[in-house]
Amino acid sequence: MKFGGSSVADAEKIKNVAGRIAAARETGDDVVAVVSARGKTTDGLVALAQEISPSPKPREMDMLLSTGERISCALMAMALHDLGHEAESFTGSQAGILTDAAHTKAKIVEIRADRLRNSLDTGNIVLVAGFQGMSMDGHNVTTLGRGGSDTTAVALAAALDADVCEIYTDVTGVFTADPRVEPAAVKLPRVTHEEMLEMAASGSRVLALRSVEFARNYDVPLHVRSSFLPDEGTWITKESPDMEQAIVSGIAHKSDEAKVTITRVPDTPGVAAALFTALADALINVDTIIQNVGTDDHADVSFTVPLDELKRTIEAVEGIRGDLKFEDLRADDQIGKVTLVGAGMKSNPGIAAKMFRVLADQGINMQMIDTSTIRITAVIDRRDVERAVRALHDAFDLTSEAVRRGNV
Ligand code: ASP
Ligand code: MG
Repeated sequence: MKFGGSSVADAEKIKNVAGRIAAARETGDDVVAVVSARGKTTDGLVALAQEISPSPKPREMDMLLSTGERISCALMAMALHDLGHEAESFTGSQAGILTDAAHTKAKIVEIRADRLRNSLDTGNIVLVAGFQGMSMDGHNVTTLGRGGSDTTAVALAAALDADVCEIYTDVTGVFTADPRVEPAAVKLPRVTHEEMLEMAASGSRVLALRSVEFARNYDVPLHVRSSFLPDEGTWITKESPDMEQAIVSGIAHKSDEAKVTITRVPDTPGVAAALFTALADALINVDTIIQNVGTDDHADVSFTVPLDELKRTIEAVEGIRGDLKFEDLRADDQIGKVTLVGAGMKSNPGIAAKMFRVLADQGINMQMIDTSTIRITAVIDRRDVERAVRALHDAFDLTSEAVRRGNV
């Protein structure tokens, strides 16, 4: 069971969550609960560091940021004790979560869960501080990147061979679209790991992307549900042959993207490698990439990056201007993306045609198009993103589709 920051924001909420953990234990199940830092604690810690130093060392940031989850964990143990349960809290390193040494964005390498297993075997409820681990070499405290408690929970579920990883949050599940943008959006009864992966990568904020990768790789069933209501949420599972596939399950969007175009780069082998190596070295997350057909031995290359990485992107590209010999670098900081996701797209023609028609009827221009077997993404003007989400939601009739597939 994983509880997000808003679910443990104050004493009342911590006691409410303790009640849910206790109830789960009382059914006879073994329970491991992962908790996030309370409310905006992590943001507060980041701000605190900035008050002290303009560029704190990542190692010390991890020492600082990991405390938020420890606090929640200890408080949760106390609340459970008052409900008459044995509970033991652990830091990430005590829980045996071993990571690489990439401070503030570490990856889990291995979990040595013996200590947790022993605690479960003696009948305890086990509480683990989310979002943190210990580096394999150096034994330093590390954190897993913002939103990383989801990853802690899914990785522990995999390591302990749990029946399910329940993600308790302030929404009731995964929706057909962001309900703040499309009020007609409804909860999806179930989606596949692959669909959720595409949604998380395309802007859905319900689950951290890395956690969904873990769930897919280790086949962990996820259940995203409300911390405050008893209702079933959204099940995220492996695709199975008897599962009815939605042609379009949901629409994700991003409004904080930027596009960079480099014009007239020489159309020869090694140019794209040089460009994207420079960006990779600067740790920039490049997303959609398009190169047009070369004419007179030159081509244009466009790609998107998160808006807050645009400045560093421009610096990295300018740094290799001499080697690449391109003509112009153009940056557009006013773009967004709208994405359709659905496992049934694989076997149903015409989805792209319909999507493009809907956008055209809205007078929305597509600047780039990018697809996978179960996803279609259009890069558009940021001002058009919300209108695009609503028009597509309506045209693909996602409300009635989700209701028909078992929503209540
Ligand atoms: N507390 C961390 C954050 O705010 C991790 C998490 O919430 O999952 O990003
Ligand atoms: Mg969080």
